Amino acid sequence: MDFKNLIAHCKEYGFVFQSSEIYDGLSAVYDYGPYGVELKNNIKSYWWKSMVQMHENIVGLDSAIFMHPKTWKASGHVDAFNDPLVDNKDSKKRYRADQLIEGYAEKIEAKTVKDVEKAKTRFGDAFDEKQFRETNDRIIERQKQIEAVLLRLSTAMGAGDMDELKNMIEDYEIVCPESGSRNWTEVRQFNLMFNTQLGNIAGEEGKLYLRPETAQGIFVNFLNVQKSTRQKIPFGIAQIGKAFRNEIVARQFIFRMREFEQMEMQFFVRPGSEMEWYDYWKQSRLNWHKALGTDASKLRFHDHANLAHYANAAVDIEYDFPFGFRELEGIHSRTDFDLSQHQALSGKKLQYFDPEMNENYVPYVVETSIGCDRMFLAMIANSLQEENVPDAEGADSLRTVMKLHPALAPVKVAILPLLKNKEELTKAASEIYDKLKLSFNCQYDEKDAIGRRYRRQDAIGTPYCVTVDFETLENDTVTIRDRDTMEQHRVKISEINNEVEDKVKMENLL
Ligand code: ATP
Repeated sequence: MDFKNLIAHCKEYGFVFQSSEIYDGLSAVYDYGPYGVELKNNIKSYWWKSMVQMHENIVGLDSAIFMHPKTWKASGHVDAFNDPLVDNKDSKKRYRADQLIEGYAEKIEAKTVKDVEKAKTRFGDAFDEKQFRETNDRIIERQKQIEAVLLRLSTAMGAGDMDELKNMIEDYEIVCPESGSRNWTEVRQFNLMFNTQLGNIAGEEGKLYLRPETAQGIFVNFLNVQKSTRQKIPFGIAQIGKAFRNEIVARQFIFRMREFEQMEMQFFVRPGSEMEWYDYWKQSRLNWHKALGTDASKLRFHDHANLAHYANAAVDIEYDFPFGFRELEGIHSRTDFDLSQHQALSGKKLQYFDPEMNENYVPYVVETSIGCDRMFLAMIANSLQEENVPDAEGADSLRTVMKLHPALAPVKVAILPLLKNKEELTKAASEIYDKLKLSFNCQYDEKDAIGRRYRRQDAIGTPYCVTVDFETLENDTVTIRDRDTMEQHRVKISEINNEVEDKVKMENLL
């Protein structure tokens, strides 16, 4: 399904709404509707169970959004959490200079894609795309151009060279997508942290930040957690919580938001063993994604070319979103940077006594960090489909179905009386609903023809529909319809619970 329709579907079916929509919305801020919140909670639960419940050496934490302002000085966010900002003087629109330049490279690639499409139609089945790309002179030339642009960009970004970014915008004659003009300001660093003010202290002293990542709450609590749980290294601390970033350009729906949620785990290890653990978590996190049945070709690793100031290795797990492969999760080897910085600025020791080595040290850290909202978007994109299926008369009809993993589905089972105005049926169906709701998130629906009700459940990803019909009244059986195959079979009312439980339980993923 294309991206526009996906966004419309999320709104129509109560998954995601624009924040404060009646006031024309607040850009890059979103609210989760009734089905959205269920899906999001299930994603969080899957993550939490895989991290905390499945590892005896990983424990949870819920730290505050506000932290002492020195935290962000120590972590480097005050000085270095910036994006390169450029304004167009005619349209007054703001852009990220690096994204404008990437857009320039993408436009070159788009020309190649067009040539490939044309050649495909011309040569038909005999067409070999790889060979075409490797031998066509124009395409080879363009590929060189793209590589040169990206190399120049990554060198400038790595060096924090704002003048060079401006030079690139000029050299490539990049225009403002809005006004079409080349009337740009200088490129300057823009800090992404939101700030606010404490009530009881005036001026700079009382300046507070909304956390741009949850990780720092884990670092400053490292010893509190270690001592209170008597964990031995290696061990991890996991946290799910809101983070805030004043993104300059926030497009692509919930992919890039100003308020979002992270699921982060910091794993504390012996110095020198971090690469071993980095490899372990890299694989372990990929497996977590694969367990959901996500097509392996839609997931890939992408090693960072420019490492952040705190990292000695970093990789992204990228997902093939409707707008291309983008970061879904990051795995970073953060060395002892954060703990050492907090130790230096707070004057408090943040060391661990290793009884086996009989030695004190500042542990090294391997982090896994995934955006809950991006995971949500990936799951919707991965599962939302339009299919041609036979209708009641056997003719072709289009259905929209969300083939979410049953453990993530917002509603697990819908209970539907075949007819609305037959009290025996609605009564029997209500009784089943009242029993099942103790175990699952269920829905009772009697409105409209049964076919339309099935379609509504398909559209929100409900894996099972239970239909109560006249045979139910005779022998206490119902039909269970499977969302994906649309096949139905009869089961005893007393067996519904087990059958559904078997398919929807989170255990299947762990
Ligand atoms: P990007 O390069 O896309 O801005 P990042 O490298 O800054 O992301 P990290 O700082 O590594 O991201 O954050 C960890 C995770 O948090 C990301 O993998 C992503 O899933 C999520 N995330 C980061 N920024 C946003 C945002 N603005 N909106 C939604 N999720 C985000």
